[in-house]
Amino acid sequence: MGIFGRTIVTFLPFAPRFIVGWVAKRYTAGESLEQALELMKKLSSEGACFTIDVLGEEIKSLDESSWFINEYESVIDSIVESGMDANISIKPTALGLLIDQKSTLSNIERIVRKAAENDIFVRLDMEDNRVTQATIDAMIAIQKKGLENIGVVLQGRMFRTPDDISIVSGTLGKNSDFRICKGIYLEPPEISHTSYSEIVDATNRAIDLMLDSGSYTAIASHDVPVIDHALKSLESRGLGPKKEDPRHRPSALNRKGKGPGYEFQFLLGVRGNIRRDLAKKGHRTRIYMPYGEKWYEYGMRRLRENPGVAVHVTKSLLMPWTNRR
Ligand code: FAD
Repeated sequence: MGIFGRTIVTFLPFAPRFIVGWVAKRYTAGESLEQALELMKKLSSEGACFTIDVLGEEIKSLDESSWFINEYESVIDSIVESGMDANISIKPTALGLLIDQKSTLSNIERIVRKAAENDIFVRLDMEDNRVTQATIDAMIAIQKKGLENIGVVLQGRMFRTPDDISIVSGTLGKNSDFRICKGIYLEPPEISHTSYSEIVDATNRAIDLMLDSGSYTAIASHDVPVIDHALKSLESRGLGPKKEDPRHRPSALNRKGKGPGYEFQFLLGVRGNIRRDLAKKGHRTRIYMPYGEKWYEYGMRRLRENPGVAVHVTKSLLMPWTNRR
């Protein structure tokens, strides 16, 4: 599987751009915000809500961050105008986190403040280990300014994640809000689990720790053993569709756009059959909608970082029944 993935990644840059575009179409919501909104309207009928991500990352100069800020402000305006059930996801390195932390903090704050004025939640995506601490710090710093509509992502594969759950939830209490995923970046074995079964076990443990800490928990995995574990963990803690979150009675935490203490999240184009099934059973399900002109660069970089994604994509094209839209 490793060799197969790496072979695809080696040869993909030589493939005509239109072929890559044809594949990417399934996983991106278009090049423009209008196209993303159009697709969201269609997908709303599947009982899903959304998080919108403007494609791009790691800017080289702080000037480049203004483009992202303006674009995210337009996204917020469009969510309000369209009345869509959506929030936003941001990659902190696209706002300058690897260049200047202080300026990045004010960039993020500007977006979060505008989102707060419109009752919209902001999720800081988690990137590679160079920025794990800085991303968590930024989220806590913004919450401490009284902006509670922000949360972070933690990656099950990282050894540090149980400590991060305890520190963040201990600091923010009822406002602690996580997305938990396995982590797309292949991190070194000194700081992360590397085998499939270890990563699944660690991700499942992180889900339980988040639920037990009273945090809002967004489960972002397409993997059946993780989803099944999450469903059992939710049930055993009295959490579920149409139930009041027993960890926080009365449900003062019921913010607009949030589920009863948890939700399930999926990437656009991946395992829609499982997502629709969860939605039918009453669980809140959210689709991650990346859009933007930089889909080619973004996709190529993701594939280089984790060639395993190429295997998923190829499998889903050749054997679509394994990964229905
Ligand atoms: P896997 O075992 O990798 O996948 C299970 C099955 O799902 C595969 O067999 C395949 O059929 C399908 N599948 C999974 N991924 C793909 C794909 N890309 N294309 C086609 N089929 C696929 N990672 C981060 O590091 N930081 C983040 O901020 C982050 N945010 C995320 C937000 C959402 C909503 C989701 C769903 C994932 C996010 N991820 C993020 C990625 C995540 O960490 C995993 O890399 C990714 O979800 C694959 O892991 P999995 O749990 O789905 O299990």
